[in-house]
Amino acid sequence: MSQNSSPCYGVFAIAIPLYSTFDYALDANSKSQPGVRYRLPFGKGQKPGVLISSSESTSLDPQKIKPVLEVLDQSPVLDAHMLELSRWVADYYLQPPGEVLFQCLPKYLRSQRQQKPARVKRWLANELDAESRETIERRSPRQHELLSAIEYSTAGLDAAQLKAINPNWHGVVLALESKQVIRSVWHKPDVDDQLLQPAPELNEQQSRVVEEMSRQMTGFSVQLLDGVTGSGKTEVYFQLIQQQLDRQQQVIYLVPEIGLTSQLVERVKARFGNRFTISHSGLTDLMRYQAWQQFREGDVDIMLGTRSSLFSQSQRLGLIIIDEEHDSSYKQEDGIRYHARDVAIKRAQMLDIPALLGSATPSLESLNNSEREHYRLHQLNQRPTAFPPPTVQLMDTRHLKLDTGCSPRLLQKIKQHLDANGQVLLYLNRRGFAPMVMCHECGWQSHCQHCDARLTLHQTVQRLLCHHCGFAQPVPPACPECGHAGIKHYGIGTEQLEQRLQQLFTETPVIRIDRDVVSGRHQLATKLEALNRGEPCLLIGTQMIAKGHDYPAITMSVILDADQALFSASYRASEGLVQTIFQVSGRSGRGQRAGEAYVQTRFPEHPLMKSLMQQSYREIAASILSERRLLGFPPYARVIMFRADALSLQQAMNKLEEIRSILDARTSAYGLRCIGPIPALMTRRIGRYRAQLCLMSADLRKLRSVLRASMPEIENVTSTHSVKWMIDVDALDL
Ligand SMILES: [Zn+2]
Ligand SMILES: [Zn+2]
Repeated sequence: MSQNSSPCYGVFAIAIPLYSTFDYALDANSKSQPGVRYRLPFGKGQKPGVLISSSESTSLDPQKIKPVLEVLDQSPVLDAHMLELSRWVADYYLQPPGEVLFQCLPKYLRSQRQQKPARVKRWLANELDAESRETIERRSPRQHELLSAIEYSTAGLDAAQLKAINPNWHGVVLALESKQVIRSVWHKPDVDDQLLQPAPELNEQQSRVVEEMSRQMTGFSVQLLDGVTGSGKTEVYFQLIQQQLDRQQQVIYLVPEIGLTSQLVERVKARFGNRFTISHSGLTDLMRYQAWQQFREGDVDIMLGTRSSLFSQSQRLGLIIIDEEHDSSYKQEDGIRYHARDVAIKRAQMLDIPALLGSATPSLESLNNSEREHYRLHQLNQRPTAFPPPTVQLMDTRHLKLDTGCSPRLLQKIKQHLDANGQVLLYLNRRGFAPMVMCHECGWQSHCQHCDARLTLHQTVQRLLCHHCGFAQPVPPACPECGHAGIKHYGIGTEQLEQRLQQLFTETPVIRIDRDVVSGRHQLATKLEALNRGEPCLLIGTQMIAKGHDYPAITMSVILDADQALFSASYRASEGLVQTIFQVSGRSGRGQRAGEAYVQTRFPEHPLMKSLMQQSYREIAASILSERRLLGFPPYARVIMFRADALSLQQAMNKLEEIRSILDARTSAYGLRCIGPIPALMTRRIGRYRAQLCLMSADLRKLRSVLRASMPEIENVTSTHSVKWMIDVDALDL
């Protein structure tokens, strides 16, 4: 960097929702490396900013440019590649560049905090002549005590060890350091390969897939591993990870938020020892930062984490794995809106490395991409055990009196499986006791005050709760409208199902897993441990149990109520339903016994229900894809959604009208259609009214042209707290 005294200007990214960067004057004598954080004056206060570039000239009036206040980093927090990736994310997803760039940093560094070394500091002894030693021994017994201990340990001592010897160790160590009789080093954790589990023998299919994929492990490619539930995808990942580690490469291994159970962590630990680190939302900001740091420094080679771990920095990244790639938790729906799978693929392309997507129920986007040969498809359609995944059977519940959502035949089946020492999984994606409370006299219903939603009855806490905003109220003893005493609840939630099944099967443990009983990963793991013992039990759960777990004693899985999704307004509902059914049914029969899978429905004649019994996931997916093609829906079209929320619906609609009028000037020229603004499906949520404006086209180029031409104007449409608007590129919901 030049060290002349001519003025120098820096372009900075600041985490605010504006589509612009900011210029500041840099101290001409300091190095100005892109990716370094500075403390900047901003408005009446200060904000941290990341330097994107610097130059000796500026297009602005130099007199008006404020100088930076302080440099916060000795070395860049983001390297050139991450700066480029964040530029791409901002550009593709039409998000404010400063917010995107800060999103690439661990939260810990998004403030003005100093970087901390992730490694453990240790003190080692220097060579010492007899005279100096004698002086220390005579004059300072405490210094001598610590020095002797440090000399005695060959690897040096860390703060915790020194503290054990002398609680006031720090001052003593400083004194020894100033005499230069000891020195500190940053200790990298040793790779402990001693107790690692060897790789198991692969079956024929797995070996073939590993071999095929190994040939694609240099240069950019996207590999799609379509493997039926229980076919051993994880083992394929492990083999490819090992290959990359052998080449001194690092691996990012992404899993959905709920996929990060102790079961997977234990498996990774058993195979790769301390060569991996974990990052997910259950950790503190400092812990996540340390994981990020360890990976960046190369102290560990595998980053196992959820969505945002995608932005882990690495000097030698060799592979990105996206497990359960169809999972919607990869799409970030608040703040910066992006899809982690798609950004991962872009990142792999930029670095010229492979990306590996895996799922038993690949997303329609990925299946379409593999059909068009953008992705290479690999299939695992066998389980290593003797039994194939169970075929889904329908249980017709028309004209039947159900007991807490269960048909007589279902209860009979459950009993059979328990009697045969099997475990039974019941999937019900509705937590609480009952989803609706109403008065028979006047028709009063329990509605949330802040959302267009009903309050759910939670009996254990004796509350009516809103699942969207958290609003809670006591259960009224009588109807609040007419005073009638007999208000009733309708529908079944997991709480009620648990209670009833426990009454029916008194001898059998009933385990319920949903957000009300499991708040952290550890609690989930503890709950699931009961299943590990393999004794007969009933497992009830929401989508938390739908995927990623492997419990060999489950011999029967049941989707209790699939009908709601059949008539949903969302065009993605059928895809989601089929994925859930295949994932849930695939939990069954993974061990030494064959499994069964049932779906209860009042619509057994529905084409989708019929196809479940006769077709594979791929076959059903193909027919949903052809429907989408006919309708011109994604993945055959791209969707750009403008969303607004405000204190009144009119305000939200007006804001989108403003945006629409800018778009209209161009859309007609390109023959594109703008749909809306219309109120969102659930218009009022958490006290705010929401509306949307949709731009959809099969022609991505036209779409981009319209946006490129319109964005400079759209960017100027004000967004305030009272009327907020945002863009959602590749929106999942219409
Ligand atoms: Zn009433
Ligand atoms: Zn609410």
